[in-house]
Amino acid sequence: MSQDPGALFARAAALATAYRREIADAKQRPDHNYSAAVVDWDATTPEHGLPAEAVLEELVTRATPGLHASTGPRFFGWVIGASHPAGVAADWMTSTWGQNVGNHQAAPAASAAELVAGRWLVDILGLPAESSVGFVTGATMANLVGLAAGRSEVLRRVGWDVEADGLFGAPPIRVVVGEDVHVSALSALQFLGLGHARVTRIATDAEGRMIPEALQAALAGTTGPLIVMLQAGQINTGASDPFPEIVPIARAHGAWIHVDGAFGLWAQASPAYAHLAAGVELCDSWATDGHKWLQTPYDCGFAIVRDPEAHRRAMAFGASYLPAVAAGERDPTHYVPELSRRARGFTTWAMLRHYGRSGLAAMVAHCCAMARQIATTVATEPGISVVNEVVLNQAILCFGGNLPLEESNRLTLATIARLQADGTAFAGASQWRGQWLMRVSVSGHGTTEADARLTADAITTSWRAVRGQNAG
Ligand SMILES: *Cc1c(COP(=O)(O)O)cnc(C)c1O
Repeated sequence: MSQDPGALFARAAALATAYRREIADAKQRPDHNYSAAVVDWDATTPEHGLPAEAVLEELVTRATPGLHASTGPRFFGWVIGASHPAGVAADWMTSTWGQNVGNHQAAPAASAAELVAGRWLVDILGLPAESSVGFVTGATMANLVGLAAGRSEVLRRVGWDVEADGLFGAPPIRVVVGEDVHVSALSALQFLGLGHARVTRIATDAEGRMIPEALQAALAGTTGPLIVMLQAGQINTGASDPFPEIVPIARAHGAWIHVDGAFGLWAQASPAYAHLAAGVELCDSWATDGHKWLQTPYDCGFAIVRDPEAHRRAMAFGASYLPAVAAGERDPTHYVPELSRRARGFTTWAMLRHYGRSGLAAMVAHCCAMARQIATTVATEPGISVVNEVVLNQAILCFGGNLPLEESNRLTLATIARLQADGTAFAGASQWRGQWLMRVSVSGHGTTEADARLTADAITTSWRAVRGQNAG
């Protein structure tokens, strides 16, 4: 086995370069689905080793047919960022350096990068400067961390130490969410012993925004520990809760206010879109992703908490945090569930450094403009309707909407299948208000106006083919 990794690393860089150069013209979907990919990978446990160079070739050969085009410019499935080259290069260095960012002695540079990238992040997202930031795997874990800080604080206020004594026998915490909450936020509640089913769900409007009067009514007479979970960026519509109206209601009842802002919080990064999340900075904790709109490679998310002490209390190991942290020191592990951990500060720093405030604002605005372009173009075709107000980067489309629900569901799913098989562009299905829709999420940095045109054409063409078959 060669000791010098030069040839191996050069080969990996060449393969990566070729992949990224080809992705724009490639089909925006895998050639193989999951069951075919299992066949591609299937093999018995290797008895003997293989040189690293051969492992790399085999890895790429086995993976390639089942790779989804998440980094492609016409990929609009789920809400997935495009893993920007600046972040990928930083990610290579992160792996190369092999830093364990659990504590600042083991990883001085990585810990410092997190500190500074965290400050930039809070600044760019318009959140309170005193906030602390935990670098986690994604918004699910960021929701868990923010809600854990809230759980800690609302119980501390009634004299209960949840870190030491757990939830058995604790005063109950009332948890309030919007009707159109993301499932990830509910699973965070589930992990924390707060339960996903014992929440109070508050009615939302047509775009999925919590209705302030409904919250007011639900909280009437509520005293005691309370967590209100809000949302910046509903997964289907992109809409955010009306924070300026909601926050005073929640505050009047002493709530900890957490925001799931996995992608929608990034509206704050653009002066043209910041009004959509106006007032979000008034809350107590925020969850957002790096691997969606910031375009870092997977995985990367941020838990941001206004009260660093509540944040540390919830996450630091066994109450050792207070004496251990000297003034001005920050151990990354005190803000996340893990100890040993990938140094996500490097990729976060790299993306923020690459874009800068103005570049980030432009990229966010561009994604929104591309979503609007696709939506307004397809809406000119008879039988296609845009169901949401395309205020951000999300558009949901209905096909044959004047037909009975069952029929339009069938046509919508058939149009999605057709679009995906064609491969010019990729969008998936989503359920909204009891109806199947095509969801187009423009979350990658690389979508050009030409890509938006090609996408609108591909959607329209798929719909015409389905409609034609149906008529015939
Ligand atoms: C994507 C998303 C999540 C989950 O984020 P992960 O990074 O997948 O853990 C939670 N909430 C919303 C609104 C999302 O869009």
